[in-house]
Amino acid sequence: MRGALGGPRVLLRRLREVMAEPVSAQERLDKIVVLIAANMVAEVCSVYVLRVDSTLELYATEGLNRDAVHRTVMAADEGLVGLVASQASAINLSNAQAHPAFSYRPETGEEIYHSFLGVPILRAGNTLGVLVVQNRARRTYSEEEVEALQTTAMVLAEMIASGELSALAPPGAEPAARRSLHVKGNALSDGIALGHVVLHVPRVVITNYIADNIPKELTHLEAAIESLRASLDELLEHGDVVEGGEHRDVLEAYRMFAYDRGWFHKLEEAVMTGLTAEAAVERVQSDTRARMLRQTDPFLRERLHDLDDLANRLMRQLTGRNHAPARESLPENAVLIARSMGPAALLDYDRKRLRGLVLEEAGPHSHVTIVARALGIPAVGGVDNAAGLADPGDAIIVDGSTGDLHIRPLPDMEAAYAERVRLRARRQLQYQALLDKPCVTKDGEEVELLINAGLSVDLPHLADTGAAGIGLFRTELQFMVAPNFPRSSEQYALYRSVLDAAGSKPVTFRTLDIGGDKVLPYMRNIEEENPALGWRAIRLGLDRPGLLRTQLRALLRAGAGRALKVMFPMVATVQEFDQAKELVERELTHLRRHGHKLPEEVEVGSMVEVPSLLYQLDELLERVDFLSVGSNDLVQFLYAVDRGNPRVSNRFDPLSAPVLRALRDIVDKCRAYDKPVTLCGELASQPIGALALVGIGYRSLSLTPSAVGPVKAMLLELDSRKTAAFLAPQIEKSFCAVPIRAQLEKFAADNGLQI
Ligand code: PEP
Ligand code: MG
Repeated sequence: MRGALGGPRVLLRRLREVMAEPVSAQERLDKIVVLIAANMVAEVCSVYVLRVDSTLELYATEGLNRDAVHRTVMAADEGLVGLVASQASAINLSNAQAHPAFSYRPETGEEIYHSFLGVPILRAGNTLGVLVVQNRARRTYSEEEVEALQTTAMVLAEMIASGELSALAPPGAEPAARRSLHVKGNALSDGIALGHVVLHVPRVVITNYIADNIPKELTHLEAAIESLRASLDELLEHGDVVEGGEHRDVLEAYRMFAYDRGWFHKLEEAVMTGLTAEAAVERVQSDTRARMLRQTDPFLRERLHDLDDLANRLMRQLTGRNHAPARESLPENAVLIARSMGPAALLDYDRKRLRGLVLEEAGPHSHVTIVARALGIPAVGGVDNAAGLADPGDAIIVDGSTGDLHIRPLPDMEAAYAERVRLRARRQLQYQALLDKPCVTKDGEEVELLINAGLSVDLPHLADTGAAGIGLFRTELQFMVAPNFPRSSEQYALYRSVLDAAGSKPVTFRTLDIGGDKVLPYMRNIEEENPALGWRAIRLGLDRPGLLRTQLRALLRAGAGRALKVMFPMVATVQEFDQAKELVERELTHLRRHGHKLPEEVEVGSMVEVPSLLYQLDELLERVDFLSVGSNDLVQFLYAVDRGNPRVSNRFDPLSAPVLRALRDIVDKCRAYDKPVTLCGELASQPIGALALVGIGYRSLSLTPSAVGPVKAMLLELDSRKTAAFLAPQIEKSFCAVPIRAQLEKFAADNGLQI
């Protein structure tokens, strides 16, 4: 470095000595700023620390008025220092006072300094403070100097994150690094978890930041990059990578970055400033994360994510540590944080110790979400940089009913949530007491409560909830969580175990509902403009009858000697139902011819999810043994709102005249034809939805297992005739000044119903 005394390596070595000295945190900081200023031939060096109240406080300075230390406190977006913090990137100016963001603090005496170089103090992509050097003369700091200052900032980041400085501050003004955070994500799986953070991909802890021997570190880095490249080449050429599949694209992107000169050059530069190879990777990774958090273009964000993953792989190469030791040594009350996770990985964890789940990327229909719900693990998704916000062991609260996350919660917050958990547990006990009570309304109407299921982990819910059976068994879930296509024997084994677990209770199996948002990772992904309206469910089943027939055969064999109920998803015309039923007949004939034992009875039904069926109900009811209304899809198609798109999915209320009229017409028609009908969409799982459904005539509902208790408790207090009389006129009106949901809420309150 030009003009510098000894350059960055000497500085880092001296820093290491200071870090090891048995002095107070303030003395250490004071020494550090003197060292940096001397090394960089700067007249000023200052450290600003981001506080819990989102202000930036001057913690140490060489060159500015020392009385200003701990007195100068700026808003997080104030002045050049604020700009460095909010942009999380360096600012390098030869005439700082001419910059529009410059703000003058008389107590510091900084008006005489013209050049300014500020770098963010970053850790895991989060800004913890700002490190500044200033000179009287107008000069632009060289690239090398910027690099050196950033490297130094990294050492400071560790010092701030260690909590060493917290003792210096009064309550409410502590460094933000360990502050209590409230983050809003998306509610994915209901429930509340209080626990301690476990990172799914543990952060590699770097113990040595400062290199003793730079050429050795460079060789180490080069060797690690070489083996990283070789392992990616090997994976792509010989590994178990699906041709053209999603995995392949990701690995191709990794390989491209791994061979990128720019990336390698950045890492090399960081080592040249005096860092160890692993510290260099962390430096570059932290910059990438900070950029990722500020990037709004989804494509570029994805690429930055790839780069972040690649850095993790490289870090593991360098340290020789493989990831995921956490699985075997999961602590009690673990809350798992991951960027993304496959469903099988979640199933690998010890369920008894796992309290909650936080995911950066998962949405409500992600496979891991489905498994979390089945396991009853509260989960929140859509949280940016989740893994960077908390350290392993930090206390955390996951509110899966609202999407709120509290990291390092304050005692009051923790107490409030603990109380909510106790309240929920008490309610569960009350529901437990209703377990053996028949589900009959106050006016004597029996309502059948079934559960929705799809994995073997769901089966204990039959007994836990006292449900009358399984109203919807989503067979695609087995396919979605498997690493490759489940063989016929595996399908048979699952169906058999489901029927065994259900005993005398009925189970309605739905044939594969894949396509749309339900993608199989190992199946060639077909690009479709509108996947929800595309080649999915029964459409795919009829066009690829081999797949559907294999499944039907497995179902019929599993049902040998018992009653079997099978239904088809996304039927749009009666002809489709006829064709599907014909396949059932053919399989029955085949099994009969080969001497297999057959089910005692086979009932074949259809889901009502596509609005076109509303106008074919007479023809359909002449053919089916039963119907099941999939209100999730039916509402999506009636209102033309994508159920997976949070921008529109809540735009229209299903508790509205158009939807309730459609649902009422279905139940009325079924009664006229004396055919059973169940409603198995999410609407039935909300007590207010169940209230409306019973009010329009439904007497069979299939629910998420956790909803059975609350819905049953409500139904036991309900007068169904009174509800019907209340609801009928609302549904007839084309416009209600007070929305139907609000009317129902009032009705529930007036009648002492818990909704
Ligand atoms: C529905 O659409 O309401 C339904 C139950 O099916 P799924 O949610 O699996 O699409
Ligand atoms: Mg559906």
